[in-house]
Amino acid sequence: MTSSNRASNLAERSRQAVWHPCTQMKVHEHFPPRAIVAAEGPWLIDDQGHRILDAVSSWWVNLFGHNFGPIREAITDQLGKLDHIMLAGLTHPPVVELSERLAGLTGLGHAFYASDGASATEIALKMSAHSWRNRGRAQKNQFIGLQGGYHGETAGALSVTDIPLFREAYAPLLRLSATLPSPDPRHAAPGVSAQAHLQSTIDALAAYLAEHHEHTAALILEPLVQGAAGMAMYAPEYLLAVRRLCDQYQVHWIADEIAVGFGRTGTMFAHQQAVLPDGSHVKPDFICLSKGLTGGVMPLSAVLTTDDVYAAFWDDSVVHGFLHSHSYTGNPLACRAALAVLDTFAARDEQGQDVLERNRVAAARFTAMTAPLSQHPRVKATRHVGMIWAWDVDTSEPTFASRYHRAAMAAGLLLRPIGSTLYVMPPYVLSEADQCFLAEGMLRVLDQVLAEIDALPDSSAPAAPVVPVP
Ligand SMILES: *Cc1c(COP(=O)(O)O)cnc(C)c1O
Repeated sequence: MTSSNRASNLAERSRQAVWHPCTQMKVHEHFPPRAIVAAEGPWLIDDQGHRILDAVSSWWVNLFGHNFGPIREAITDQLGKLDHIMLAGLTHPPVVELSERLAGLTGLGHAFYASDGASATEIALKMSAHSWRNRGRAQKNQFIGLQGGYHGETAGALSVTDIPLFREAYAPLLRLSATLPSPDPRHAAPGVSAQAHLQSTIDALAAYLAEHHEHTAALILEPLVQGAAGMAMYAPEYLLAVRRLCDQYQVHWIADEIAVGFGRTGTMFAHQQAVLPDGSHVKPDFICLSKGLTGGVMPLSAVLTTDDVYAAFWDDSVVHGFLHSHSYTGNPLACRAALAVLDTFAARDEQGQDVLERNRVAAARFTAMTAPLSQHPRVKATRHVGMIWAWDVDTSEPTFASRYHRAAMAAGLLLRPIGSTLYVMPPYVLSEADQCFLAEGMLRVLDQVLAEIDALPDSSAPAAPVVPVP
């Protein structure tokens, strides 16, 4: 038996007692979950002592590796002072400081907290529609999302998500929203240039808003990278047009930076790459943050918004207030983890470099190391931004992703292709040796899996399309 399908006692107990996320549990009958008992830096250590490189940052949350000293120390220190209190009618130092610093970094403020990304989406959607209602424009209550967009899986977030696999079973429970074409150049019709495709998606947004703005509260999108769609990447010019059109038609723009915030795309926040002629960057009306916010250590999310939206709730009437709440809103331990993350971004090393500058050097090195993968005859649409790399593999075999995932685990790499897209979203702390291990391993596993697939008897040729599971 290979190490990837050997069932440890812990894995078997997990199969019996735990319902794992985003998983058809029957698969675990033959491929049990791997039991991880420790983690250090980018490495996970299983209950048999094997080391696995966490090349997807534990579902895109981890920034500085596991067991990162400054975050661990901040949480430990806070635990001795104040563990948790409710945030209605009470406040505490970490939540005040974090809110001030997030406002300083984004130019938006009034931080509203929850514990996960989907809740941040819910908050932004509710705040937007409620603010229009408070302004006497209750008919502005519809939302727009983009083709391939992903904003979480609670009912409200799912209704602006366009991943059929996650939506279909729940379609009757969801409120319909409009889905507009994605600026991802891979969707360009044959013979249409990337620039022309981009323009056509901007035209589609303009046409939609011209007709429906009176009933539209907000447009929600993932700036620059649509993660769950398979790391679809698009040009920042699209965001310039979004800002201009949303202003023109009085529609809020919600930037879902849950996956792309905190340096993932090379700037602190992805929307900051949409630069205006005067050198400033565009500002959304709402920013949703989570995932990297605590460096991947504590569950925390935040929604930031404008003074204008905030003012729409400011009233003597209680029902004009934003009465949303979560029990763990603004948890002090999570806020301290987030403050340690912001301190880490603010710090410079002995060479005078900060995290973003070091990432640029590391990214260039890794891009060079993966050139053989990018030039592989069965690989197309190589793309990269900041600390995200993606490659589309030329295969229609529906089991590609699961085969690749298992073969990679056996090779000591945690990688989960989405459909036929192989991607890497590593913690920012890979050493040159780690990067080399990852680049060589990915290529070797690709050849191994393609050989496996090519050797399948013809009768197993796929009838169904590839089902992409992040
Ligand atoms: C992960 C993610 C979410 C949902 O966050 P959860 O914490 O999983 O609920 C929302 N939007 C984007 C862009 C994400 O990547």
